[in-house]
Amino acid sequence: MRQQTLLLPTLREAPAEAEAMSHQLMIRGGYIRQVAAGIYTYLPLGLRVLKKLERIVRHEMDRAGGQELLMPAMQPAELWQQSGRYSEYGPELIRFKDRHDREFALGPTHEEVVTTLIANEINSYRKLPLTLYQIQTKFRDERRPRFGLLRGREFLMKDAYSFDMDWEGLDRTYWRMHEAYSRIFTECGLHYKAVVADAGTIGGDGGTHEFMALAEIGEDTIVSCSLCSYAANLEKAEGRAVEGQEINSVDRSASPSTSKLEKFHTPDIKTIEQLVKALVEPASQFIKTLLFMTAEGSPVVVLVRGDHEVNEIKVKNHLGCGELQLADAETTLRITGTPAGFVGPIGLPAGIPILVDQQVSVLSGAVAGANEQDYHLRHVQPGIDFSLERTGDFRNVTEGEPCSCCEGSLVFNRGIEVGHIFKLGTKYSEKLGAKFLDSNGRNQTMIMGCYGIGISRLLSAVVEQHHSEAGLLWPQSIAPYQVHIIPVSSKSEEQMKLAEAIYEQLLQQRIEVLLDDRNERIGVKLKDSDFIGCPVRIVIGKEAGNEFVEYKERNDAEPRLISVEEAIKLVS
Ligand code: ATP
Ligand code: MG
Ligand code: MG
Ligand code: MG
Repeated sequence: MRQQTLLLPTLREAPAEAEAMSHQLMIRGGYIRQVAAGIYTYLPLGLRVLKKLERIVRHEMDRAGGQELLMPAMQPAELWQQSGRYSEYGPELIRFKDRHDREFALGPTHEEVVTTLIANEINSYRKLPLTLYQIQTKFRDERRPRFGLLRGREFLMKDAYSFDMDWEGLDRTYWRMHEAYSRIFTECGLHYKAVVADAGTIGGDGGTHEFMALAEIGEDTIVSCSLCSYAANLEKAEGRAVEGQEINSVDRSASPSTSKLEKFHTPDIKTIEQLVKALVEPASQFIKTLLFMTAEGSPVVVLVRGDHEVNEIKVKNHLGCGELQLADAETTLRITGTPAGFVGPIGLPAGIPILVDQQVSVLSGAVAGANEQDYHLRHVQPGIDFSLERTGDFRNVTEGEPCSCCEGSLVFNRGIEVGHIFKLGTKYSEKLGAKFLDSNGRNQTMIMGCYGIGISRLLSAVVEQHHSEAGLLWPQSIAPYQVHIIPVSSKSEEQMKLAEAIYEQLLQQRIEVLLDDRNERIGVKLKDSDFIGCPVRIVIGKEAGNEFVEYKERNDAEPRLISVEEAIKLVS
C-alpha cells in the first residue's frame, strides 16, 4: 500500500475524551474514528487488524469443529418473548418497530435465533453434535459506552453455539472451545487468564469461564492464587458470598455436569491421599472435575463419571511420562500424559485430549493462567496441587490472603473480559423447542453451550498490552502491515527508486508492505511510522546508492545498516 493516498489520518494530540491508552493510540494512529458514543468507523488500518483477528478466530473455530454461518442483526421480538428475555434483558436491548408496527430488537447476542433455527432444522441424534458460529456486529445500548472499542454500543463479536445430545457431549465441546480460546489469545500475543465466572443474563445452569486480558484499564478484578491454578472473577468470588450460598446446600439432583462441581464442598487437598479421599466422597454420583498438576507441573483434568467408584489414585512415574493411575474395584485406568511435551506458549501437554475410556477422560487447556511457557513448571510447588472450580470460601477476599486450597496467597489483577464461554444446558432449547429423537427413538432436549469473543474489544485489549510512548507495537500475527518502507527524502530519485524496487519485490513475495511515498519531512514520517507500529521498518537514506538500508525490528534499540538483499531475506 502506498501511503500517499491511504486514508491514514494520524494526529499529534490525543482527543480529550479518550481515557484509555488504546483508545488514544488508535485515534492518533489513524485506526478508528468515533461516529457517536460507542460507535466507530474502522479506517483502513483498523479494519486490516480486525480482519486479522477474525482470521485467527475463524481458523481456531473451524479447527474446533465449528461451522460458520451468518445470522441477522434485526430480530423479531417474538423470539425474545419466547425465551423470556424480552423483559429480562433491560434497556441494553435496542428495540424498535417496523412500518407495520411489529416489534424488533437489534441482536446483542443470538441464542434465540440460532436455537430456533436448530429447532426447525435438526430432529435426529444423527445430526448431533453441532457447533455453529458467526462473526457479526452486535448491538448493546451500554449504560456507559467508553474506552473506545473496549465498551462499544455497536461491536464485533464472534459468537458460537453448540448443540449436544447429553452433558458429557457438552463437556467435551466446552473444553474444546476452552482450548481453542487459549490458542486464539496466545496467537494474538495477549497476556490473559481464564477465570471462573458468573453466568450473568445469558443464564443457563452450567459452568462458565471468562478469558481476561490483564490490563489496568480492565473493569473486572480477577483474584488468583500465586501458586495454584485457582482464578476467578472477583465479582463471582464475592457475589457468592453476598448470596450467602452454602456450598453444601446446593441442589445436587440436576443433570450431571462439571459445572455442578463448582458447588461441591472441596477440601484443601495437598496430598495424594486427600485427593483419593475427595474422589470417593459421597458426591461421586456426579461427574467430578479434578484439576491438578504433577510435581513438574503437568496440568491434567480428570473427569470421573459418578457411576465409577474410585478408591485409589496413584501418581506413578510422573517424572518420566506423567503417568497417573486411577483404580477402582475392577479396572485400573492408566492415563498417560506427556509432561515433557509442552507445546507452544500455552503450555498444554501434547497429544490431548485423550479419551481414555468411557469413564475417564483427560483434557487440557483447563489451566487458568497457563498462557506463559512453562508457567507451571516454574511456579508449581512439589507435590499434588489440586484445585477445583470452587466457590464459596472467598468471603470478602483481600489481596495477600492465603489461598484456601494451597500454600499460595491471593493476588488481584485488573482484567478486560475478551472472551466468555458458558454451558447453557437446556435454558434455550427447552423454551424454543430444540428437541431431537435419540437412538432409542425417545424425544430429548438438546444440551447447549455458547461461546463469545469480543473481536473489536480484543483489538483494543491487544493495544493496551502492546504499545510504547511512541505508539503501537503490533504482534506480528495481527500487524496491519509487516514492513514499513520509508525513503528519507521523496525528492531523491535514487532513494525513491530503491524504495519502489524493494516495495515491488516484497509485494511479489506477498509480504504486506506499506510504502511511505509522501512528500513529508523524515521526522514526520518516522513519527507516523512509530504510531502505526509495523514490526519491521526499512529506512532508505544516504546509502541507497550502495544498495544499503537501515533495518529496524520493533524491539531493536537502533537500526542496522544492511544490504538490500539481506533486508529482503530477513523479512521474507
Ligand atoms: P461485560 O461484562 O464487559 O459487559 P458481557 O459479559 O456483557 O461483557 P458477553 O455477553 O459475555 O459480554 O459477550 C461476549 C463477549 O463480547 C464478551 O466477553 C466481550 O469480549 C464482548 N463484549 C461484550 N460487551 C461488549 C461491548 N459493549 N463492547 C465490546 N465488546 C463487548
Ligand atoms: Mg455486558
Ligand atoms: Mg461480563
Ligand atoms: Mg460475559
